[in-house]
Amino acid sequence: MLSVDWVPEKHRLVAGALQRAAKLAGDEVMKSILATQFHTTINTCIRCLHSQALRLQSTLRDEARVIKDGSHWDVLTKGDVLAQRVVMRELTAVLGPNIPFVAEESGESGAVPDGTLLASVNKETGAIQERRFITIDPIDGTSNFACNGSDWSVALCEVVDGKPITAVVYLPRRQTMLTAVQGHGCRRNGQPTPPLPDRPLERSLVAAEMGGFIGEEGLQKLLRFPTHSLGIRNAFSTTGNVDDLLLGITALFLHLRGGSIWDFAPTALLVQEAGGVVRDAEGERLVWDHLMGSLQPTGVIFAASPAVMEQALSVLEAPSPDVLAEARKSTVQALFESLQTMQGSAQASFLGEDCVWETMPSSVASASPPRGKAMHLRWMAATMDEFTDFRIEPRDMVCQGDILFCHCRSHATHKLLGPYGQDYTFTFYFEPGSGGKLRRVKEFVDSKFSVEFFTAVHRKRKKAAAAKLAKL
Ligand SMILES: [Mg+2]
Repeated sequence: MLSVDWVPEKHRLVAGALQRAAKLAGDEVMKSILATQFHTTINTCIRCLHSQALRLQSTLRDEARVIKDGSHWDVLTKGDVLAQRVVMRELTAVLGPNIPFVAEESGESGAVPDGTLLASVNKETGAIQERRFITIDPIDGTSNFACNGSDWSVALCEVVDGKPITAVVYLPRRQTMLTAVQGHGCRRNGQPTPPLPDRPLERSLVAAEMGGFIGEEGLQKLLRFPTHSLGIRNAFSTTGNVDDLLLGITALFLHLRGGSIWDFAPTALLVQEAGGVVRDAEGERLVWDHLMGSLQPTGVIFAASPAVMEQALSVLEAPSPDVLAEARKSTVQALFESLQTMQGSAQASFLGEDCVWETMPSSVASASPPRGKAMHLRWMAATMDEFTDFRIEPRDMVCQGDILFCHCRSHATHKLLGPYGQDYTFTFYFEPGSGGKLRRVKEFVDSKFSVEFFTAVHRKRKKAAAAKLAKL
């Protein structure tokens, strides 16, 4: 068994018991001769277990495989029941009968042996009514286990006063025992884990749980991450993904919905003790006094550094494409309505400082070259001064990415020529992620109408000027 010499004296009993229980359960799930192997060295155990893993996994994965709670992704196998029984029996024998467990599998499944104590939990709120308890995920990654994957584990955690104190995660087929004690670091197979990578999100791989349990909104949020990182991978178990983060393969692991305290308490302590950061999906610190899961669907984010956590939260907090599209349509509507004030400066709040406004096509563009913000506002003020009751009525708006296309029609009275109105097609380029700031506008006008109308305006002005001159 792995040494717990590095663990402070007062935590040694629990740390040792958790390690032993996790390993016992993992071993027994993979082979039935655990009792004799337990007394051999860890390396001998691992070698032996690895060679038999496939055979035992294939035996256990198909037996007693049922679906829980009506969700096809929530699978229970004989391996879960077996592992939990081993863990509860072992920990009760070592730590005494009064230590309460918060365990994933219920008594109905046969996973709770006689003489073991389950924590008192409020059924409506999921609040755990114990000061000290041990969480048990007998198999984290049951879907992996059932599909013959290798990324599953036995995950245990001692929680005291709402804080994970001792965490043990044993991944038999990765030949990995992860252990952490609050304030005393994280270890892999007894050795301190190396520092986590200090890479920005855009140069990192991201891990993310992706399944129906995440929900449509969560899945849409996850789809943003490939463009902000090197890409997404998924071990399809919380502990497998956390092990990847501890190995430096990924710098971020997102589990936006569906996990419970037995998934997150041990893994959060491992990551924090390795130097990483763990927060809920809103960036708040987690309190470990309730079940989470369906009763309190808190997402959890694991990051290798505070900087990556900050980047992840800003990606998550960005409005969804649908919300952004609606905000952009409202902005364009407001921009058009601002023209009714007949003051060009009313557009100022919608234009970014470097915004450029172009009038097109080229047959009229020569009269109005691309204008920067200040020049455009002056130009707009002068143009509006020629009209009364100017308004633009949008007909169609389509938002795609950061671009909004809009076909519209104007209605106005020109002070010299009277009724005015023409068609336009605008292409509005928004600043990335912004619903209210424009960085470029292309205004396609009805060139025939524009040239004829403003040539007539020019001719009338010229005629009036000549008449004025003749009177002198
Ligand atoms: Mg489980």
